[in-house]
Amino acid sequence: MFLNTLRKLTALNSLVFLLIFIAFTSIIYGYVSFRLFDKVDNAMWSQADSFRLLSGRVVPVRGRPLFDPRIFLLLRSTDGRIINPNPFRTAETGNIGEIASTIKLGEVQTREYEGHVYRVMSFPYLHEDNFWGNDSRFQVREIIAVSIVDSETELLSNLFWITLGGGIISMISIVLAGYFLAKRAMIPIQAAWEKQQQFVSDASHELRSPITGIYSNAELMLRHPEHTIEEESHRINTIMKESMRMTKLISSLLTLARSDANKAELQLAPVNISEVIEAVVGSFKSMEEINNLTLTVNVKPNLELIADKERLHQLMVILLDNAFKYTPPGGKVHISCFQTDKHVIISVQDTGCGISPENLPRVFDRFFRGDKARSRESGGIGLGLAIAKWIVEKHKGKIGVESELGRGTKFTISIPVTHT
Ligand code: ADP
Repeated sequence: MFLNTLRKLTALNSLVFLLIFIAFTSIIYGYVSFRLFDKVDNAMWSQADSFRLLSGRVVPVRGRPLFDPRIFLLLRSTDGRIINPNPFRTAETGNIGEIASTIKLGEVQTREYEGHVYRVMSFPYLHEDNFWGNDSRFQVREIIAVSIVDSETELLSNLFWITLGGGIISMISIVLAGYFLAKRAMIPIQAAWEKQQQFVSDASHELRSPITGIYSNAELMLRHPEHTIEEESHRINTIMKESMRMTKLISSLLTLARSDANKAELQLAPVNISEVIEAVVGSFKSMEEINNLTLTVNVKPNLELIADKERLHQLMVILLDNAFKYTPPGGKVHISCFQTDKHVIISVQDTGCGISPENLPRVFDRFFRGDKARSRESGGIGLGLAIAKWIVEKHKGKIGVESELGRGTKFTISIPVTHT
């Protein structure tokens, strides 16, 4: 799939470049060609015009034209005969006369003749009563100007081959560079796609186990219709537990999916973080006794920051829940919160089982669980810390973890007071 996209992207890039190149070089070629021939045409027209004015006994306004030895003037009579009015150039008349013979009145031609390129133009003579020299039968109808344009056509031909060569070299470079750049651009897209695929497969895998639990327990209950609810209470209990687990999993998946799609916006408002922590600690008080843990709190009162209250509550629940889950009876959990110059610093520390150094960099990964059996037993799905990290980063803060196996773990969060 990616190879196909890569090819399409390269082809599209190259095509766009090719079109720009063709348009650009066509404009340059067209402009140079127009300018070159325009100059020649003007010179031919001006020479023919001056001749006409002189021979028509009208004094030219601009004086005598600049004599261009490349331009050759011929006269054509009303009956189609061609003569050379410049006797000092008679040697050239033969060939030039042949070149001029095909031109029609008012036409412009560029034609090749015996290895040379000529520009030929025909102008009306305009003086009807004019007979050339002593020849009373040669009534002049047209002036034909012929100019050799070898240097202009050679320049154009050189320009053509240079642009063609440059175009081919540029095209090869663009295809190679386009392929290389597209490949580089695809790396993060491919990584994100693979991550998403992994997420979907992990999620389906995680959803399968509670569904299997619910289905098998319900099936077993159906096999004994005579059993009372009391007799089946352990199965009903398992179904309820698995349903709860599935609800939690779906809600976590939804949060992460929304975060991926950038659809989970924060409801920002001034929040008293000290009160949020106190509230979460209050809800864990009963757990303290059940788990035989000591929960101590050192939170500076009335610390305020601009944040999403619900998300901060969720963040504290995730961290405290983990601290309780992974700290054996008799252990301690400590929460602290204070403010520095521009940040609120929250830390949750426990004296639990700790995290091994090789697992430490992976704890924020989705579906990562250090001890799968233990985590699952305590209702863990491996998404808590991924959500915690997203919440902190969405608040433009940072989350870090320090841990020592067998001694305990400390999560530290730093969130800016103003969300700017
Ligand atoms: P889970 O639902 O498995 O707890 P989390 O994303 O919250 O998922 O945590 C990921 C993993 O990080 C856990 O499975 C556990 O191995 C490790 N972990 C998280 N918090 C602690 C802690 N306080 N002490 C020890 N290990 C922890």
